[in-house]
Amino acid sequence: GEPVLEIENLSVDYGYVDDATHVLRDVSLTLHRGEVLGLAGESGCGKSTLAYAATRLLPPPGLITSGSVHFTDRDGRRTDVLRQSDAELRASRWRDTAIVFQGAMNSLNPVYRVGRQIADGILAHRPGMRRREAWDQAASLLEMVGINADRLRDFPHQLSGGMRQRVMIAMALALDPQVLIMDEPTTALDVVMQRQIVEEIADLRQRLGFSVVFITHDVSLLIEIADRIAIMYAGDIVEDAGAEEIYRRPRHPYSSALLHSFPPLRGERRELTGIPGAPPDMHRLPPGCPFAPRCAHAMDVCREVRPGLTATALGDRGAQEAARRVACHLHDPASAGAHGLPPDLS
Ligand code: SF4
Ligand code: MG
Repeated sequence: GEPVLEIENLSVDYGYVDDATHVLRDVSLTLHRGEVLGLAGESGCGKSTLAYAATRLLPPPGLITSGSVHFTDRDGRRTDVLRQSDAELRASRWRDTAIVFQGAMNSLNPVYRVGRQIADGILAHRPGMRRREAWDQAASLLEMVGINADRLRDFPHQLSGGMRQRVMIAMALALDPQVLIMDEPTTALDVVMQRQIVEEIADLRQRLGFSVVFITHDVSLLIEIADRIAIMYAGDIVEDAGAEEIYRRPRHPYSSALLHSFPPLRGERRELTGIPGAPPDMHRLPPGCPFAPRCAHAMDVCREVRPGLTATALGDRGAQEAARRVACHLHDPASAGAHGLPPDLS
C-alpha cells in the first residue's frame, strides 16, 4: 500500500543543549495504508518517544531537533505534521491519527459511567452533536469492540481490565481515524486477554481499514498481529522487516536476542535466554554500534563505526528482502565479503 505516515531522520533530545541526551537518533520509518506495524524493543529504547514525537504529543523536556513527519490522508493529501499550526493539529488529532496511551485503561474517571465518558469524548470533537446522539454512537462503538451496550451504564470499576482497555480502543476509534497508535495496549493484561485484544484489533483493522502502530516490549506478541516489525535499540531502529521474516530469520543479533527472551504465543517453543547485559546509558553511548557491549558477534569495526540502517543485499527473496533494513556490520554489503556470510541467528 501507499505510505500513510512517513517519518524521516527524526531526532529528539531530552534536556538542554549543553547536556542533552539524544533519545531518538535519526529515525526513518514508513507506515503503509492498512498495515499493522509493530514497534518493539526494551523499555527506554525510544518506542514511545517516537510515537509521541511523530504525533506532536511529546511532553517537555523532549525536543524534536531534526527530521520530518508527513501524513497522507485517504484522498492523497499530504500534511507536514511538524509544521501544522495548533489549530490544524486540534482539528486533525484523533481524526487522522488516534493514540491509545500506555496505561490508558487506568485513566478512566472512576466517578462517571463509561457511556458518559465516551459520549463526552465524541462531543468534544463534534460540538454540534446532541447528547442523545453521542450516547447512541457510544453504544455502537462499545458493540464494535465486543462489549454489550448495556455496559454503558457501568462505572469503570465494574469492568474487567480487558473491557476497560477495549473502552479506550473504542474511544480512540470514535472519529474513524486512519492511523491508530497503541502504546503497550495489552501489557497489563493476562495472556488470554492479550490474545483476545490482539485478535480484535486485527479484526477491526480489516473491517475499518485503518493502519496500526502497535508498540510493545514483547516481540512474540507482534508475531501474532504485525505485518511488519521494526526493532528499536538505543534510540534508533536496528531492523525493519516482515514479521514472518523477523520470526524465521532475524538478521540483527539484538532481534534474535529479543525473540529468545519471550515465550512464543504459538509455534515451536524456543529456549528462553534473556539478553545479557543492560540497555545502554543513553547519556553515554559507546562509539560504534550501541549493541556491541552485549553482542556475541561484535568485531573490531563494531566498536569504532556505527552501522547504518541499510537494505540488505544478501538473501535471494527478491522484493521482500530488498524492503528489509538492518543496522549491523555483519550484514553490511560493503564489508560482507570481509566477514564472509552472516551467521544464522534464528
Ligand atoms: Fe553486533 Fe557488530 Fe552487529 Fe553491532 S554491528 S549488532 S556489535 S555484530
Ligand atoms: Mg514506553
